Amino acid sequence: MEQIFQPTNQQPHFPPPMNRQTLRVLLVEDDEDDFFIVDDLLSDIQDTNYELTWVNSYNRAVKIIYQEVFDVCLVDYRLGDKTGLDLLAEIKENGCDIPVILLTGMSDRQVDLAAMQAGAADFLVKGKIDAQVIERAIRYAIERTRLIKALNDLAIRDDLTGLYNRREMKRLMDEEIERYQRYGHPLSLTLLDIDHFKRVNDTYGHPVGDQVLNKLAQIIRESIRSVDRPIRYGGEEFAIILPETPEHEAYKVAERLRENVATGEFVCELKDETLESILITISLGIAELPGDAAHPKALVNAADQALYSAKNNGRNQTKVYREIDQKTKPVSSP
Ligand code: GH3
Ligand code: MG
Ligand code: MG
Ligand code: MG
Repeated sequence: MEQIFQPTNQQPHFPPPMNRQTLRVLLVEDDEDDFFIVDDLLSDIQDTNYELTWVNSYNRAVKIIYQEVFDVCLVDYRLGDKTGLDLLAEIKENGCDIPVILLTGMSDRQVDLAAMQAGAADFLVKGKIDAQVIERAIRYAIERTRLIKALNDLAIRDDLTGLYNRREMKRLMDEEIERYQRYGHPLSLTLLDIDHFKRVNDTYGHPVGDQVLNKLAQIIRESIRSVDRPIRYGGEEFAIILPETPEHEAYKVAERLRENVATGEFVCELKDETLESILITISLGIAELPGDAAHPKALVNAADQALYSAKNNGRNQTKVYREIDQKTKPVSSP
């Protein structure tokens, strides 16, 4: 259940939501009369179809929000012994970024301010809404959420490849380690580096090198699960966080990826616009938490040592930290 709102490793893309004909609206409202009012208002709106789903309790709301996808959520403020703010806090805590518009019976500035601070998209007083007001509130809420997501993606992703950037890696590691502490499943980190990448740049030029990096990122994405986190760790170095994965499982993933790269066609466009199929290989190093390291920095260090062992052993191979002989400083490449 927790995975539902995790960002996936897919390339981000931001479709303009306003082109959509039908918007899925969830109404959390314990008063049936108010449900009929909202239903009527939404049916009055031209141009957009609203598919309204109604739940009448806090618990049902939590359940359905985790199970289904909605464009916007309208939430009554008073929900039995809980409030709409409690619901907002709970779903935000779980990483859900659905826009939430609070509906209240009475205008209350304190609740209005609290709702804003809690991240509500809007705050509407039931007696004062008509079709136009609710249509506009929904439209603005969806658009603002889309923009926030787009900005957030810019901040956490690498420009060239669309993978997570190094800054985001730190946060992702902390998140996964917290999950490990809660559930006790080991996680693995794979570091990988292109073999003799300098030759690619020297032979074909930097822009072609960039195309290779981009295609490698694509192969990485296609070779891992959606819960795995691919990162551009440095220039031609990448990292993959594999949650709930012991080292021997991470090894299988790494070897599959290595083979996909070694047998893959890196068709690049050269300066004269001709196409060239470039061959590359990668070396990989794997370490596991808690088996090899107890905290993020030590995990990266252990994976790095395994990677350099793979380099020193002839490249185009995967090494796991546990099995390397010399756990010392990496030796520079020949
Ligand atoms: P090794 O097998 O030991 O890893 O050899 P290497 O040539 O790959 O390693 P080295 O660290 O000597 O060179 C890495 C090269 O990666 C040098 C650098 O110019 C290139 N590089 C780093 N970032 C980028 C980038 O964003 N684009 C391109 N095109 N090249 C990059
Ligand atoms: Mg109520
Ligand atoms: Mg390197
Ligand atoms: Mg390299």
